[in-house]
Amino acid sequence: MTGVSEAGSLARSNAAIVVGGGQAGVECATSLRQNGWPGEIIVIAAEELPPYQRPPLSKAFLAGEMPVERLFLRAAGFYEAERIQLRLGESVTAIDRRDNAVVTSEGTVLHYAKLFLATGARPRSLAVPGAHLEGVGFIRSAEDSRRLQPLFTAGSNLVIVGGGYIGLEVAAVARKKGLSVTVVEAGPRLLGRVTAPVVSSFYEQFHRTKGVDIRLGATVSAFTGERRVRTAVLADGSELPCDLAVVGIGIVPNDEIAMYAGVEVEPGEGVVVDRAMRTSDPDIYAMGDCAFALNDCAGRRGRIESVANAIEQARIAAAHACGVEPPSPAVPWFWSDQYDLKLQTAGLISRGYDRAVVRGDPATGKFAVFYFSDTVLVALDAINSPAEFNIAKRIIARGGAGLDPERAADLGLDARQLLPA
Ligand code: NAP
Repeated sequence: MTGVSEAGSLARSNAAIVVGGGQAGVECATSLRQNGWPGEIIVIAAEELPPYQRPPLSKAFLAGEMPVERLFLRAAGFYEAERIQLRLGESVTAIDRRDNAVVTSEGTVLHYAKLFLATGARPRSLAVPGAHLEGVGFIRSAEDSRRLQPLFTAGSNLVIVGGGYIGLEVAAVARKKGLSVTVVEAGPRLLGRVTAPVVSSFYEQFHRTKGVDIRLGATVSAFTGERRVRTAVLADGSELPCDLAVVGIGIVPNDEIAMYAGVEVEPGEGVVVDRAMRTSDPDIYAMGDCAFALNDCAGRRGRIESVANAIEQARIAAAHACGVEPPSPAVPWFWSDQYDLKLQTAGLISRGYDRAVVRGDPATGKFAVFYFSDTVLVALDAINSPAEFNIAKRIIARGGAGLDPERAADLGLDARQLLPA
């Protein structure tokens, strides 16, 4: 051990304990060190693999185009150099708030001065018969993705449940590999949670032209097979041949250890935090996919499931814990790569909009959609249009005013000319 107070020595520990080795956890540990945290910094991470990034798991890594080492968030030697202790393959099973301590799966008790929950989220499970069969899986961890790689062989029948980011990114990889792909989406359109109908239609058409069979308003009611999955049965009784299935129907925050410790949790939504990412216990912070935080762009509490958000919230928590001025929140942004399409989103349409202005022609595969609430720009989707993305992000960061919706649509104007003076 490292001199961390073991059971018996009380909350005089000067350790910062970070639970979770994802993007938020590693950023938090790194920022703590950069901000001058005076004591030990310990990251407890359930997976054996060194902390890694997840976005390639449904893209290049799944396609077998990226070695696992390129997933790693930091180079070998980084943690030691920064005096960050990584406890891999270990998880926190309980928090003892009276004693400022955590208990780990190894039975170890570690005391903390401040505790940082970056426990992330897990895939929402599909509760249908046969969901346990071999060949039915999720993509959340590197291991999930690695397990699928050898099954991505030309001619195999892949059924994807959920037409969200995971589902569509996996569909794109699978079509490139020559699999036969069906996407089963419960809602009336693809990407329904995150974008407007015009963008949903574009992606639907694009995937169809690439040969993806898309079933909207449809659900899988069972998977059948002996040991391995063979068939996906839809709610309307139709059957799809199915050699493998990927379920991407959203995520559920890992907030149980907080809840069992009596920290305030919004059921199903995550750990409630204030603007400094502090939970109802002033010695405990939460960030990233497990945190239910107020966001000014959304105008309400929520979880923003993105890398950028994980990094930002981690930096805010670390700065606050070190007594340093926290960074100002930035405009939320997202991206998704499918085929040769790059979707970049700035802002949140969940804030509400009454006008979607399309700039460019979707048929060209290069266009942007500006979302206005009255005359205020609240969000933008840019498809292969990075200049529009950058400009919109800047406008939204300034409050969203000043861009005339008519000008936004005018292709005679260069994207930079859209920036209000
Ligand atoms: P998601 O983006 O929430 O999409 C899930 C989709 O599945 C939704 O369209 C949902 O429809 C649909 N659905 C829900 N229940 C269903 C059912 N029983 N049958 C068929 N469809 C159903 O979640 P995800 O794609 O699973 O992604 C998981 C997480 O990873 C998210 O946080 C996502 O942001 C993140 N991720 C992000 C990226 C990226 O940013 N590029 C890439 C991969 C993953 P309703 O909305 O109608 O429920």
